[in-house]
Amino acid sequence: MQDCLFCKIAAGHLPAHKIYEDDDILAFLDLHPIRQGHALVIPKAHHVWFEDLPEALATQITTCAQRIARVMKPLYGVERVAMFYTGIHVAHAHAHVVPMHHVHDVTSAAYLQEGLSGFSAPPQLPGAEMAQIADTLKNLL
Ligand SMILES: [Zn+2]
Repeated sequence: MQDCLFCKIAAGHLPAHKIYEDDDILAFLDLHPIRQGHALVIPKAHHVWFEDLPEALATQITTCAQRIARVMKPLYGVERVAMFYTGIHVAHAHAHVVPMHHVHDVTSAAYLQEGLSGFSAPPQLPGAEMAQIADTLKNLL
């Protein structure tokens, strides 16, 4: 993947502030951090979507994110660390690991109806609709 930014970083052709590296994965600081320490964990091999990662590789990424989170909690004095894939920005699967100083650090617009000081739960769906959604997903898994 010659044009992939993260493949170039994984191959060492572009610089990054690396915090962990082994044969299969790499963790480095996000250039546009939500909070100090905001890290990305990527597979060295090019996979666009997290759901395309081989299970063992996905587990390596999650395990690395767990180790980073355990370090971040005392370092930044936070109760929780977020870990998520969004698939935004670079089309190479990357897990964000972000120390959470504020409940809205990695929030959805759906939670912001009362602004930053509130936390609005999105409306619940009717039970029948929830059951139908669950059935659809369950049957497809
Ligand atoms: Zn790539």
